Amino acid sequence: MILYFSSTGNCKYAAAALEKADELLPGIIEDIVQRKRVRVKGEWPAPMLMMMKKAYKSASRTKSFTVNDKCVGCGRCAAQCPLGAITLTEGRPHWSKPSCALCLGCLHVCPENAIAYTKATVGHGQYYNPKTTR
Ligand code: SF4
Ligand code: SF4
Repeated sequence: MILYFSSTGNCKYAAAALEKADELLPGIIEDIVQRKRVRVKGEWPAPMLMMMKKAYKSASRTKSFTVNDKCVGCGRCAAQCPLGAITLTEGRPHWSKPSCALCLGCLHVCPENAIAYTKATVGHGQYYNPKTTR
C-alpha cells in the first residue's frame, strides 16, 4: 500500500489508497488470524524482489533521519513510533535503534514538520490517516 506525501495533509491519491485498504483489510486480517501462507501476486520476478528486500534493509537505517531546530521537544514522534526506536534526550529526539520499520509515522506526526528522512523529504508536506487519532 503506497500513501503519497501531500502538502495539504490529504489528497486524492491517499483517499483512493485508504478506500482500497478498507476493502482489502478484512481479508488480510483473516489471513493473518488463520496464519495462512499466501503468495502475493505481483508483476515483479523473484530476483527483483530480492533486490527490493536489500534496498529496504538499507533504507530502514535510522541514521537517515534528522531533526531541525523547529523541534519543540513535544515527544510526539517518540510516542508514535511502534518500535520504540526514538528516545527523547534533553528535549530532542534521537533514533536509538539502528533500523526501524520505516513507517514514517514520526515524520508525519510532528507538529512542527521538523523531521526529515534524507534530503528527499525536506520541503515535503505531511500526511496522516484522517480516520486515526494522533
Ligand atoms: S514530534 Fe517534532 S517537535 Fe515533537 S519532539 Fe519530535 S521532532 Fe520535536
Ligand atoms: S519511521 Fe516509523 S518505525 Fe521508524 S522511527 Fe519513525 S515511527 Fe519509528
